[in-house]
Amino acid sequence: MTSLPRPAQPPSSLSPSRAGDFMQCPLLYRFRVIDRLPEKPSEAATRGTLVHAVLERLFDAPAAERTAGRAASLVPGQWDRLLESKPELSELFAEDAGGERLARWLSEAERLVERWFSLEDPTRLEPAERELFVETELESGLRLRGVIDRVDVAPTGEVRIVDYKTGKAPRPEYAEGALFQMKFYALVVWRLKGVVPRRLQLVYLGSGDVVTYDPVRGDLERVERKLLALWDAIRLATETGEWRPRPTKLCGWCDHQAFCPEFGGTPPVYPLSVRPAESAPDARGRMEPARAESAGPVTVEGI
Ligand code: SF4
Repeated sequence: MTSLPRPAQPPSSLSPSRAGDFMQCPLLYRFRVIDRLPEKPSEAATRGTLVHAVLERLFDAPAAERTAGRAASLVPGQWDRLLESKPELSELFAEDAGGERLARWLSEAERLVERWFSLEDPTRLEPAERELFVETELESGLRLRGVIDRVDVAPTGEVRIVDYKTGKAPRPEYAEGALFQMKFYALVVWRLKGVVPRRLQLVYLGSGDVVTYDPVRGDLERVERKLLALWDAIRLATETGEWRPRPTKLCGWCDHQAFCPEFGGTPPVYPLSVRPAESAPDARGRMEPARAESAGPVTVEGI
């Protein structure tokens, strides 16, 4: 039996990805969070999911057996598991009758997995958590949630949050945007555990770079203020139905151009009740999107 689509609901929590969506383009946020428009799977994003699954599973093996060869050998099996859980991913290679594109894609995933061994040594790591779902509610009622790739805890109790990226490290001028997600997670961990993580670590498998940042309490307080301002802007847009498109070069990757006024489209009928924009009070600390390339917001206050 086909299940009926869930009725549209106002957003009730914020994750780093969705915060990034709103900062990139408010209309994109609406399409993803409120309209829940379907999106086509992409080879790059699916390869990222596959590589993450392999790196997570490798830690099931005893430390001495966590070799590059073993990790690469996990790729085909994890791809099968991914296909089982999301059969729609088979569309990616539907027209690849000879299987050459799939073979190249799997080789690229193996290459990314193997590159990890030049950046970290999993035989010397015992993660406290892998693929950890975290969620907390701020005093304002805003719920923050996300999934952390890896959490390491030193014998001294110091916490390191690690995130794997299958792309390349951003140029230095966009590094702050890349760290936004990590500071978001650090804020959630701080709120949950009462401890500011000692280190945030981004591992870029695409370029072979590791970027670290040691946050202090003030960093996380600033991120919290920024998220509250962002949430005010999202709530205002939700209530008024005013979701402005913000075209950038990232529109080339947007699945929703057919519904976007910037590309001659018309958005679907707004599925929530609205009140007129002019009767809405000013949003506190309303945010404007910052450079889309960094997916990093930051007009209210720098992170
Ligand atoms: S095409 Fe560009 S402007 Fe339009 S919704 Fe997508 S990201 Fe926003």
